[in-house]
Order: sequence, then C-alpha cells, then structure tokens
Amino acid sequence: MHIPDIIIAIDGYSSTGKSSFARLIASEFSFLYLDSGAMYRGVTLLAVEQGLIDSDNIVDIPALRSALLSFDLHFSSTPDGSKTFIGDRCIEKEIRTMEISGKVSPIAAVPCVREFVDMRLREFGKKKRVVMDGRDIGTTVFPDAELKIFMTADLEVRARRRAAEMIAKGDDVSLESVMANLRERDYIDSHRETSPLSKAADALVLDNSRMTLQDQMEWIREVIREKFGNVSD
Ligand code: C5P
Repeated sequence: MHIPDIIIAIDGYSSTGKSSFARLIASEFSFLYLDSGAMYRGVTLLAVEQGLIDSDNIVDIPALRSALLSFDLHFSSTPDGSKTFIGDRCIEKEIRTMEISGKVSPIAAVPCVREFVDMRLREFGKKKRVVMDGRDIGTTVFPDAELKIFMTADLEVRARRRAAEMIAKGDDVSLESVMANLRERDYIDSHRETSPLSKAADALVLDNSRMTLQDQMEWIREVIREKFGNVSD
C-alpha cells in the first residue's frame, strides 16, 4: 500500500506500545520513524550525569539550560536501525533504565527542554513521510499532521507488557514498580503546564488493551483507506 506524503503523529500514555506500532508503520509505508521520548530520555541522562537533577527530582534549570546550548543529541542510523547518540556515544541502552524512567517526566516538564526537543523534531517533519510518537506530537509539535492517533490501554496490561520487555532484556524489575512508574509518569505528563499529554481534537483513539500488533496494523490500513481513498497497492 502506498500512501501520500503525510506526517503521522502518535501520542498516548506511557507503554501503550506506541513505538512498536510506529516502527511497524514506518517499515510498511517506508516512512522515517522518530521516537521523541528518546530525546527527553537523552536530556535526562545529561541531567543525571552532570548532577542537574537531585534525588527528589528537583532540577537545576539554569544549569540545564546552559548545558543544552552545546548538547549534541541526535539520532543516527546503525546496522541495527536508528539509535540515539550523544556525539558519537550510543546511549540507547542507558536511556531505558528505571533510573532514567523515574526522572524523565520532571525533566520533560521543563519549558527549555521542550523547546530544545521540539526544534529538533520539527526539522525532521519538513520532508514529511515521518511517523513520530510521543505525548504532544499531534497537539504541539505537528498540530497540522494529516493523521493523528491517540493510544491508550489498561494500566495493568501496559505494566505487564513493559515488565516483560525489561525482564527479557535482563533487568530485574517487579510488576508493582513498573506500574507505579507508569502511573506517576501518566500523572506528571498529563498535568504539566507546558504541552501536557492530551488527545488532539482530531486524533483517532486506539485502545489496544486487547489487540495484537497485527490487529493494530489492520486498523491503520483501514483508517488510511478511508481517509486517503484510492491508495495504490
Ligand atoms: O515515550 P517514552 O515513554 O520513552 O517517553 C519518556 C518520557 O518523555 C515520557 O514519560 C514523557 O515524560 C516524555 N515525553 C514527552 N513528550 C513527548 C515524548 C515523551 O513529554 N513528545
């Protein structure tokens, strides 16, 4: 199926499977996939390594603002797909730990961090044929995106999926700690002042609590057929 040059914005709660879905969409339609959460996680790693966020998650905002001026955070393609880098250091693994997950939402609520990330994300959107997932892609980063999806799923289903993923990678996590982290991130993400997580008025809701990835692909093919009409195979 070939689809027009559009931007697909996927927002939603933590661990609803946005990135797996977006990656599959990108590979099926030859789009570029961008994980905006990885950028917030990269900034969080910077803050942790430079001691700019304390154990109560209080952020030294002036110091972080100045560290961002020379922060070389970017995506690069590797034989294993696109990965997140600081300079030439691949940080893909370090940004997925529970420590970073526990600090990313307070960092992502800082306005100068959001400006830093938004500027980079918008660059990628210029050429279209991009699928991007996050919390504010359809509302703030690309409010004119041609297709917006808002993903949700039951909290326990999300926590089970996320814990299984982390355990498969060798992390020692409990279902309770993952559930507590998701609950906390959902709350902070939905209540912050700058670009809170919310459904764009024109976004389609996808509740995948009881759907496989293949079911979700069937759903989006149907949406695309309906929305863009005569798409060639
Ligand atoms: O998508 P992921 O769970 O990796 O995102 C990590 C965190 O980054 C989220 O919990 C949220 O605090 C923040 N984020 C955001 N806006 C985005 C993407 C992620 O605030 N567009």
